[in-house]
Amino acid sequence: MSDKKILVINCGSSSLKYQLFEMPAGKMLVKGLVEKIGLPDSAIKQETADGRKWKTEFPMNDHTAAFNKVVEGILDKEHGVLNSIDEIDGVGHRVVHGGEKYSDSVKIDDKVIADIQECADLAPLHNPANLQGIVAAMKLFKNAIHTATFDTAFHATMPDYAYMYALPYEYYTDYKIRRYGFHGTSHRYVTSKCFEVTKSTPADTNIITVHIGNGGSVTAVRGGKSVDTSMGLTPLEGVIMGTRSGDLDPAIIHYLVSKGMTESEVNSVLNKKSGMLGISGVSSDLRDIEAAAKDGNKRAQLALDAFAYRVKKYIGSYSAALGKVDYVVFTGGIGENSAVMRARILKDLTNIGIKFDADKNNAVKGIGYITSDDSPVKAIVIPTDEEQQMARDTYSILTK
Ligand code: ADP
Repeated sequence: MSDKKILVINCGSSSLKYQLFEMPAGKMLVKGLVEKIGLPDSAIKQETADGRKWKTEFPMNDHTAAFNKVVEGILDKEHGVLNSIDEIDGVGHRVVHGGEKYSDSVKIDDKVIADIQECADLAPLHNPANLQGIVAAMKLFKNAIHTATFDTAFHATMPDYAYMYALPYEYYTDYKIRRYGFHGTSHRYVTSKCFEVTKSTPADTNIITVHIGNGGSVTAVRGGKSVDTSMGLTPLEGVIMGTRSGDLDPAIIHYLVSKGMTESEVNSVLNKKSGMLGISGVSSDLRDIEAAAKDGNKRAQLALDAFAYRVKKYIGSYSAALGKVDYVVFTGGIGENSAVMRARILKDLTNIGIKFDADKNNAVKGIGYITSDDSPVKAIVIPTDEEQQMARDTYSILTK
């Protein structure tokens, strides 16, 4: 089968991330980022696999203008990697919410576009921006097939008792209120990588995948399929995140409204001013909080303790949900890089069969075990690569 060039796109309301891959080798050729779309100082930066860098400020009013600049970068004689836009065979788009309709990546057609639009209600900050990117890219990359990879798709296999909220049942049927889960592409990628690294057979392997970065979620995986995950109707539920509260007593919302806050102020606080930032008052970034805690900042220390405790509770509860756990996989900016946070989370989990190994944990670079050789449950660090997974999905749809 001939090589294919796949462009992977992650469009936010004011940003556009892209990576171009050569498939099936999975070789990344170039990657870049457009920021501040719609503002006068919007800018693009790009780097090729062989280290050629390009950066320029240029006013980009909308996603179409951003894509034009991306194409300019990719085709540039000095900084680019292609001669013609027609060399791109497939474009894979990240879409946050696929509702109940999508359990896999799909080729985008009018029906898929209408479905993404319909789900905008459930992800008002993300789906409309994802769609803007799709519409702009479809006009520009006319010869390529376009695919959508949904953050929710991997969790479509959750059983009903795991996704159902204990609300009046009509809220599920009428408003589609249920748990959907997110970060699915990352959980799926590290799950398949875990099978590969450990040479285990999916059918009899249970995994808990812990994706912790600015956003975070924990997933219980049985036989390669998600059976529970910590995020819910929206990415607000679950573990403590950079600025998101994660789980809380829903009555707090009513209580805050009774104190004079509007519903939208509460929503904004829960999403943007809570989590590690809210508790520490220092930052949403783990590195800043770890530094502050080292300097004796008690609230920073509290944020670290609360974060680790919440993740630990999810690992414990998914151990109960799965019955037997073979692997706990750490990924995401924090999971991959913070040995200190991994240690905080894992060191007292001997009761569920985790024999933490501090030396291995401190030494790990890239993929590596962080439990002792005789640990009944093995913990592993596996760097995630959502773009690689999207490129694989697009390639497989393209060559089907
Ligand atoms: P996003 O969810 O936005 O993709 P990332 O997965 O990049 O976020 O994770 C960002 C988080 O990872 C930040 O809290 C950051 O402090 C943390 N992080 C990144 N590198 C390190 C490191 N070397 N040590 C500790 N924390 C790190």
